[in-house]
Amino acid sequence: MKLYTKILIGMLVGIVIGTILNFSYDRDRFATLDTNGDEKISWEENFAASESDRLTSSESDFANIDRSGDGVVSLGEYKAKFGAQRYTVYTDWIGTIFIRLVKMLVVPLVLVSLVLGAASLGDINKVGKMGAKAFGFFMLTTAVASMIGIAVANIGQPGVGLPESAKEELVSQYQSAAQSKVDSGADQTAKMKEQTAFEKVVDLVIRLVPTNPFKALADGDMLGVIFFALFLGICITIIPPDKSAPLISMFDGLNDAIIKMVTLAMETAPYGVAALMLNVVATLGLDVMYLLLKYSVVVLVGLALHIAITHGSFIMFYARQNPIDFLRAIKEAIVMAFSTSSSSATLPISMNVAEENLGVSRQTASFVLPLGATINMDGTALYQAVAALFIAQVYDIQLDFAAQMTIILTATLASVGAAGVPGAGMITLALVLATVGVPESGIALIFGLDRILDMCRTVVNIIGDLTLTLVMAKSEGETIELKPDHVAV
Ligand code: ASP
Repeated sequence: MKLYTKILIGMLVGIVIGTILNFSYDRDRFATLDTNGDEKISWEENFAASESDRLTSSESDFANIDRSGDGVVSLGEYKAKFGAQRYTVYTDWIGTIFIRLVKMLVVPLVLVSLVLGAASLGDINKVGKMGAKAFGFFMLTTAVASMIGIAVANIGQPGVGLPESAKEELVSQYQSAAQSKVDSGADQTAKMKEQTAFEKVVDLVIRLVPTNPFKALADGDMLGVIFFALFLGICITIIPPDKSAPLISMFDGLNDAIIKMVTLAMETAPYGVAALMLNVVATLGLDVMYLLLKYSVVVLVGLALHIAITHGSFIMFYARQNPIDFLRAIKEAIVMAFSTSSSSATLPISMNVAEENLGVSRQTASFVLPLGATINMDGTALYQAVAALFIAQVYDIQLDFAAQMTIILTATLASVGAAGVPGAGMITLALVLATVGVPESGIALIFGLDRILDMCRTVVNIIGDLTLTLVMAKSEGETIELKPDHVAV
């Protein structure tokens, strides 16, 4: 059986068990609801009463749950104790090990394949030209993505009319988790808030150049790694062939060895993916999903439009290929992106798929894809635009044309710096919000649904990377041959 089939089965198993566990979160165990100590009724009784007679209609009011005998616990504690988490602690580690295993290989893979990619292009002008072309395309599509995000959020108005009770419930449940995300990017946010557009761009360019490449590698600072790798690759082509030949063959061998490591690590993917999906589905707040239904629909419509219009046009009109065949050819990368929520973790699969199912040369794939996985995040930028407008709408903050343009610029630049890991977009969202004066605490509103939307935006990020790889291959005069039915892994 192909690995891809096994991964699909793993995903399905995770979804089924996760769904069962999600429903195992049983409310009847809220023994009594104690509102201010004077009255105690059970959760059941509370909800059996007509709406006006209820003590509360919101779960988050169970700040003081008196579980007869068990003392007072918060809703969070309650859920951890009696919700799905009590089961997922036994499976989480499988997903975590899988993600760590793949992530372990990302930095070395990006380094080695970019050095080789640049070295095999053979001359500095070619590397510069290809790099500039790739970067320009990435920026263009990301900016278009955030414009689409702005458009759908203005048309769909997802934040208008969100009931006050829903707002309170979301904030009280996710406040502290959201705050820790905001805090983790606080330094950069404070800096960006002060900067003009010019300073923001310059800052990004400065960050490309690491002061110590080994530190960049150790910290997983991908922009620094990319710069160093390209520079090294170019210089290898400049030194005398008797010096460069052993270096190239060393990197070549290393590349093969890392790819072998990836292949072996991927054998654990079906189990890892099953555990990841199980966790997401089991802990997915169905109530949250319901509260944020309109918001989720707007995000998903935006993402779908971006694939259809932006990516679709490039594939159809520039690469002259059928977009549906293209999506079928890259299905393995899509499944991987969806289940891991990480562009970085998907990189090895994308490289494989680009070579085998799209017919792109190794040279182009190993040059363009590591860049794409790091700096190209169309889905993330689109998501941030929708999220920023949603939060502003909920708080009744008017964002004028200039503010919306600032969102496009900041979301585009922020997505370049965001790491390709789960939840990275949330940290940079804080940055986008801060620059237009929308309270960062509003992230709590959308926090509960982030993972599931992260899975979807990561798919769009990956489709963007592979679309560009196709476009670049075409512009380099390569013959593209899509294999929609072929399974590469
Ligand atoms: N998870 C996304 C990625 O890896 C980044 C994000 O939007 O959070 O591409």
